[in-house]
Amino acid sequence: MLISVVAPCYNEEAVIEHFHQRVQQVAEGLLPQGHDMEFVYVDDGSCDRTLAVLKRLADLDSRVRYVSFSRNFGKEAALLAGLRNASGDSVVVMDSDLQHPPELITRMVELLDEGHDQVIARRTRNGDPITRTFTARLYYRLVNRLVDVELIDGVGDFRMLSRRAVDAVVSLAECNRFSKGLFAWVGFPSATFEYENAAREHGRSSWSLRGLLNYALDGLLSFNNRPLRAALYLGLALLSCAMLYTAWIVGAALVNGVQAPGYVTIVTAVTAVAGIQMVMLGVIGEYTGRIYYEVKRRPHFLVKATNVERTKDLIP
Ligand code: UDP
Ligand code: MG
Repeated sequence: MLISVVAPCYNEEAVIEHFHQRVQQVAEGLLPQGHDMEFVYVDDGSCDRTLAVLKRLADLDSRVRYVSFSRNFGKEAALLAGLRNASGDSVVVMDSDLQHPPELITRMVELLDEGHDQVIARRTRNGDPITRTFTARLYYRLVNRLVDVELIDGVGDFRMLSRRAVDAVVSLAECNRFSKGLFAWVGFPSATFEYENAAREHGRSSWSLRGLLNYALDGLLSFNNRPLRAALYLGLALLSCAMLYTAWIVGAALVNGVQAPGYVTIVTAVTAVAGIQMVMLGVIGEYTGRIYYEVKRRPHFLVKATNVERTKDLIP
């Protein structure tokens, strides 16, 4: 049985060698049980020496495959490239910054051998700032009401997939890739276990607050059209309020005669309606924008260098 380890690397020159050492150790431990390992590293257009380090690793270790992008295409594209170029009977997807402890692979292999198609490592939120934990909880509660797939707090990309699960994920061709949701959408029997999250050893997280916000929105919009439905209901609710209010004004005018005041009412009504219309336009725009990107059918990434033979992705 061949296990592929897929790890996206973006400016990880400081940790990648250490990462490789650690997974190598795990690979040695799994060898007696008849498990071979290959390593698929995807350099996501790093601007440091990540590619040079990967090339050296490939020279030293024939099990190392690398794919290097022409520019930074983002982690989702890197994951897809890794999955496409992994030839294993099963694939472990993990970050290369050592926040996903490689030693857990042994446990994952055990669970996969028990017949699961996805073995998911779920990180605890110990050590995270309280505000972050709180907002994450709130977000997952909200988002799970809205989206069609189940997203679980603490579940990320650290997981092991069987060949058929990998093929299923790779067959989803959308440009706007929200992996958490794609993995959940694929389904198949899954097992989840918890692990303690490790702090980053070197470098820093590429997530900014804005990035996180956009990611949160992506999660909401990628897997359903309920926001559109919500916009419709909101519009109907507003219309009913307006009709009730009109009836009341007309009634009052009939009883008391016409009175002129109402400046505040008019301004409030105009601004509220304009605001709500803007929000609805935004929701529709988000979906239209997604359609726009999908219909262009551009490749998810461009490869500038790789040692994977017969890859379909290399642009000569
Ligand atoms: N990564 C990537 N492309 C990017 C950003 C990140 O391939 O544009 C990789 C990065 O090298 C790491 C993983 O994705 O292996 C997770 O990134 P990061 O540690 O920045 O995110 P966090 O752990 O904070 O969620
Ligand atoms: Mg990280």
